[in-house]
Amino acid sequence: MALLEKKKALVTGSSRGIGRGIVEKFLAEGCEVWGLCSKPSAAKAELEKIASDNGVAFHEIYADVGDEESVTSVVKGALSESGGFDILVNNAGITRDGLSFRMKKSDWDDVIRVNLTSAFLICQIVSNDMLRKRSGSIINMSSIVGVHGQGGQVNYAASKGGLIAYSKSLAKEVGGRGIRVNCIAPGFIATDMTAVLKEDLQKSMIDSVPLKRAGTPADIAGAALFLASDMSAYVTAQVIGVDGGMGA
Ligand code: NAP
Repeated sequence: MALLEKKKALVTGSSRGIGRGIVEKFLAEGCEVWGLCSKPSAAKAELEKIASDNGVAFHEIYADVGDEESVTSVVKGALSESGGFDILVNNAGITRDGLSFRMKKSDWDDVIRVNLTSAFLICQIVSNDMLRKRSGSIINMSSIVGVHGQGGQVNYAASKGGLIAYSKSLAKEVGGRGIRVNCIAPGFIATDMTAVLKEDLQKSMIDSVPLKRAGTPADIAGAALFLASDMSAYVTAQVIGVDGGMGA
């Protein structure tokens, strides 16, 4: 039997990279997925095909997760259309890198809003319904940088570290009602987000990975599947590092 049969999931940042990898994995495991991104994506047709091959549906929905009004109304609409989500993956994220002393306040605000505040807003809506059903798995996409810090990324590191503290705290609030909340902390994953880094920086980062390769969206999707499924029924308030050993 498929691991997520009859489950319904909301995954943000579904159009590309890690989010798309998670959607593909969930669909293949029999889960109906609502994928949220900012605009119609090139992935939509292929994800719909994977869904129909697996006897489920994929719904692409659009909102700016950094805009409270937009994300609130779209997530509420998807929640009522779905009848409630069993799984929530807050994965949408951005970087606005720069040294702290030169960083514009707007770059700080944008990253905190998109990476951290959005998770708070979406969890609030989705977990309210999970609380009534007394079950659910919430997965928040943090980063190795949220654990160890990173020069040139104070805004991003603060958002990802905040996500870990937020998730552990929420796990304590909702655990008694059967809801689990965990983070994944990816290391260096080959996506559009890391493709913009200079080639020599990419090479030196990969050199620092004990497994000597960049991670793939599928690597992260494997951890997301574990956390979404009953295989992790006794796992909550954790941060699962998926970094090829980079954080060691
Ligand atoms: P990516 O390839 O840049 O994709 C980002 C995704 O987020 C896209 O689907 C994008 O949608 C969506 N998104 C961004 N801003 C949004 C907004 N304001 N409203 C709605 N959707 C928005 O990034 P990725 O590498 O897959 O990263 C996914 C997550 O993993 C992020 O939270 C990132 O911080 C985290 N992470 C990545 C790495 C890595 O090495 N790649 C490492 C650690 C953690 P559109 O296509 O519509 O723009």
